[in-house]
Amino acid sequence: MKSAEYGMLAIPVKTAEVVKISKINRIEIPTPFVLDRVNCYYIEDSKPTLIDAGVNTQEALDTLTSGINRCGGAIDGIKRIILTHAHADHIGLLSRIVGKSGADVYIHRLDAVKMLDTGASGAAHLREKYRTFFVESGAPEPIVEEILSSLFNRLRRYFCPFEQVSTLSGSEIFSFDSFDLEIIHTPGHSPGSICMFNREDGTLFSGDSLLEKITSNPVVEVNPSEENRDYRSLEKYKQTLGVLDEMPVKKVFPGHGDWFSNHRNRIRELLDHHEERTEQIMGILRSTDSGRPVMGGMTRFMITQKLFHDLKGMDVFLGLSETEGHLQILQGKGLVFSEQKGAPKTYFIRNGC
Ligand SMILES: [Zn+2]
Repeated sequence: MKSAEYGMLAIPVKTAEVVKISKINRIEIPTPFVLDRVNCYYIEDSKPTLIDAGVNTQEALDTLTSGINRCGGAIDGIKRIILTHAHADHIGLLSRIVGKSGADVYIHRLDAVKMLDTGASGAAHLREKYRTFFVESGAPEPIVEEILSSLFNRLRRYFCPFEQVSTLSGSEIFSFDSFDLEIIHTPGHSPGSICMFNREDGTLFSGDSLLEKITSNPVVEVNPSEENRDYRSLEKYKQTLGVLDEMPVKKVFPGHGDWFSNHRNRIRELLDHHEERTEQIMGILRSTDSGRPVMGGMTRFMITQKLFHDLKGMDVFLGLSETEGHLQILQGKGLVFSEQKGAPKTYFIRNGC
């Protein structure tokens, strides 16, 4: 553990009698995934608070425990856990931490639903929803099986179904000894992603909604709740970037990697990246096959292969998610249309586009 991971921010505030200080500590937790580190933030406070809960491995639990100990705290002393979203690398240790501490857990209601979905009772149902998405994407059967087993092995091993949560909707304020954090609903990476913002000093905890070195995937929602029937992940994500762009953010504490500033530059880079990718997909749909136009249209899987080439397992899902996000936007603009005669959906570019 690098010493630089600790003691990043201390804001003293004078009350009538005593000076209380809340201190933010970043603890980097190892993950077994390609993105091999995730951040938990431990806030020293009269209500010791954890932002995000790592992945469900013993190594992660040991790293978190020793990290908190080095801050002078203890894992069984945590009073609150606020989750930025319900992905396996951010919530995995939840039940083990709550088992030791009895902490209250907070998550946006649209991601709370997903935590229940993925529990044992919902797994079979959810597997069918994913299968439908992959088949509709035109992925060949052996690849569908490969992605499903990779996805569900990951969920079984590292996800943590958990029910005793308090749900958030956005705009709630969490009070600490020396600052407040406001919940900002930032859908796109997941339907119930949130950021937490300190309006006094411009500190933003961004979860995976804004990362410095990584482009957050607009993960497709295969099982939307009734209220989220028309959820379009990339469209929502671009709106979220617009909201964050307007905010007077000075320092971003992300879900992965070190803190950064200049959030507007990063937002501009991300919006440019998505514009380029949308154009790239238009180019792929315009492309010719041996000199002839691709008359039969292209499936999501074909487009994804042309975009990313050799994807395997879980990465195929993330690639398909990104392609689907762009296709939804292009269809919304009337530039692309789709047909579904058999199982796979095929996409065509409109004449003249
Ligand atoms: Zn995530």
